[in-house]
Amino acid sequence: MLDARNALLAVKDLQAWYGESHILHGVNFDVHEGEVVTLLGRNGAGKTTTLKSIMGMVGRRQGSVRFEGQELIDRSSDQIARAGIALCPEERGIFASLNVEENLLLPPVIRPGGLSLERIFELFPNLYERLGSSQGTKLSGGEQQMLAIGRILRTGARLLLLDEPTEGLAPVIIQQIGKTIRALKEQGFTILLVEQNFRFAATVADRYYVMEYGRIIDQFATSELDANVEKLHDYLGV
Ligand code: ATP
Repeated sequence: MLDARNALLAVKDLQAWYGESHILHGVNFDVHEGEVVTLLGRNGAGKTTTLKSIMGMVGRRQGSVRFEGQELIDRSSDQIARAGIALCPEERGIFASLNVEENLLLPPVIRPGGLSLERIFELFPNLYERLGSSQGTKLSGGEQQMLAIGRILRTGARLLLLDEPTEGLAPVIIQQIGKTIRALKEQGFTILLVEQNFRFAATVADRYYVMEYGRIIDQFATSELDANVEKLHDYLGV
């Protein structure tokens, strides 16, 4: 059993609101150094809101988000990024008028340890092929997703929050994203992944938390997945 006291990220009783809408009702989970942890759940369960709340990007939040032992709940998004957490949003945020290199250079390097462009291109060789020549929107969905992940690797973040990186992508590209996530894990990054596709999640994750109505309702390790497949089908409606 992992000891919650040594978690890299410890989320406790996290509540969040958009305006008057109360979306998270007390979310509890931990992510340990070097793990890939996946939040599973149906549309609207609160997975994206959980990632945004960790980054301080919701109207109001309450509870506790501890990272490396520091309490971040009262910090600004900017301070949270400087603490070493980066979010790759579902909508990817690629700038259409900028080329691959300009998009990659957009976020500032805010901590030591960020990957150089050379290392990012080693992870994503097809981005290198498109370097300079392609504007953001001329890239395929898979290339845009890789660019969005590559971009946050420059910042120096140690904890990467990836929101549905496989959404809308072809199976062969999903396999490439899986390979990249495994390579990032090997390089020492810690990853919190939001997914609806648990078949994909099973290829990369160490542990899973299931969300429903703004709460965590269950959790499994990869070794327990087979025994829980039926339950997961019920939770995810697949
Ligand atoms: P999805 O896969 O659809 O993104 P999710 O589990 O990530 O699902 P969230 O996006 O976190 O779910 O949404 C949780 C709830 O919050 C939903 O009911 C959604 O309608 C609501 N919500 C999301 N963003 C906003 C917003 N900006 N303002 C108000 N309500 C929002």
